[in-house]
Amino acid sequence: MSVRVGIVGGGMAGLAAAAFLKHEKELGADVCYTVLEKGERPGRKLLMTGKGRCNITNRKAASKLKEGYHEAGNYIYKALKAFDPDSAVSFIEEILGVPLKEEENNRMFPVTDKAKTILDAFEKYIGPESIVTEFNCEDVDIDDDGVVLTAEDGRRAIVDVVILACGGKSFPATGSDGSGYELARSFGHTITPLVPALVGVDVASEDRLFTAAVSGVSVSAGANLYYDSRKQAATAGDVLFTGRGVSGPAIMELSRDIPRDIGQRDGWIEIDFAPYLTDEDFDEEFTKLIDSKPDTKLTTLASNYVPRSVAENLGVRAGVTELYASGTVREKRKAYEKEIKHLTLHIENAPDYKDAYVTRGGVSLKEVDRETMRSKLSDRMYIIGEMLDIDGVSGGYNLQACMSEAFIAVKNILI
Ligand SMILES: Cc1cc2nc3c(=O)[nH]c(=O)nc-3n(C[C@H](O)[C@H](O)[C@H](O)COP(=O)(O)OP(=O)(O)OC[C@H]3O[C@@H](n4cnc5c(N)ncnc54)[C@H](O)[C@@H]3O)c2cc1C
Repeated sequence: MSVRVGIVGGGMAGLAAAAFLKHEKELGADVCYTVLEKGERPGRKLLMTGKGRCNITNRKAASKLKEGYHEAGNYIYKALKAFDPDSAVSFIEEILGVPLKEEENNRMFPVTDKAKTILDAFEKYIGPESIVTEFNCEDVDIDDDGVVLTAEDGRRAIVDVVILACGGKSFPATGSDGSGYELARSFGHTITPLVPALVGVDVASEDRLFTAAVSGVSVSAGANLYYDSRKQAATAGDVLFTGRGVSGPAIMELSRDIPRDIGQRDGWIEIDFAPYLTDEDFDEEFTKLIDSKPDTKLTTLASNYVPRSVAENLGVRAGVTELYASGTVREKRKAYEKEIKHLTLHIENAPDYKDAYVTRGGVSLKEVDRETMRSKLSDRMYIIGEMLDIDGVSGGYNLQACMSEAFIAVKNILI
């Protein structure tokens, strides 16, 4: 008799699982499968990925790629090796018929530059008959018939094996509102603390005067996160200033380390616009510059390190906008240097899930077998995708994780 597989959630992880099951069926496996998606259509988040272009994977070797999954790197390595980015590219190009192209930092996109091309191809390959929409799964139960999946409206699906692929809590408007965690919890799974990750940060109103003044400017810089006066995390890369605060890859990277109660505690992000120089070396270099150009405005000299608009607005913070090099006293120079090397932006509130690209935390990895994605608490349950306590850096890592996990789950189901 066919193995019946029910996949709860029609995001990247669920769609990938269904596509791999279809492929195995074409190769002769006796299996039937259904995606049960609570929304009116699957893949709503997928359509938003890569700014609508879908950065579907990152063509690095699995051994390098695993470094982008933080604490979960070793855990996910098995899955990444079993279905690596090259395998993903082959599957998408040859089986789904979507040509891909490589961009900076090994990021892969569809040639059409449209996420819809990827979603349409998955849906077409899986087949509309295998995707049930508006099925908000509220209960998973195991009885003599098998695994019983019950929707909010009372509809039921009975399967032999369930794959939970309900996503995390980020961008809840796309359907991933965290309700999937309850399904896992009902089987005894632990959910590790959840944090919005890969998200921009709002800063306090007095610091927003600066960020709003240079809104849209992106600068390569060092960025450190402080909480209760202690350094919590450090990164480097592009920092983008916005009307509300800071964003860009370096800040998004830090966001997973922002404690939820930071709004009530003293927390800030410190930006270093010259991270390649120590404070002492910077002071020496800047002092020499000041001495060599007495008739130049201090803010013009700072343009050696930061874009002009940033130099001007850091000058406002340090109170040096009208100063010429010749008239610069030590105290003013030091104040300006502090803004350039240690720009301190206080964090108003912890970021919100509604803006976060991914959720840090999720179903504890201790309870899911990394070779198969099978729950250690139920033989008939697999858990994949963002529901798990795995979050990757930006650049195609998170979608690749979904595909790799789906692949090993399907392989194990069909053994
Ligand atoms: C704006 C944005 C841009 C991004 N860009 C990229 C990118 O370019 N590259 C990249 O690698 N990653 C990117 N990510 C991250 C990536 O999109 C996610 O990590 C990934 O899509 C997660 O897939 P998933 O299938 O686990 O969950 P989701 O895509 O969230 O899908 C879960 C699905 O399950 C459904 N569901 C939930 N609960 C139930 C239930 N009880 N019953 C039935 N259905 C349910 C939801 O409706 C949803 O459709 C981006 C994220 C965002 C928000």
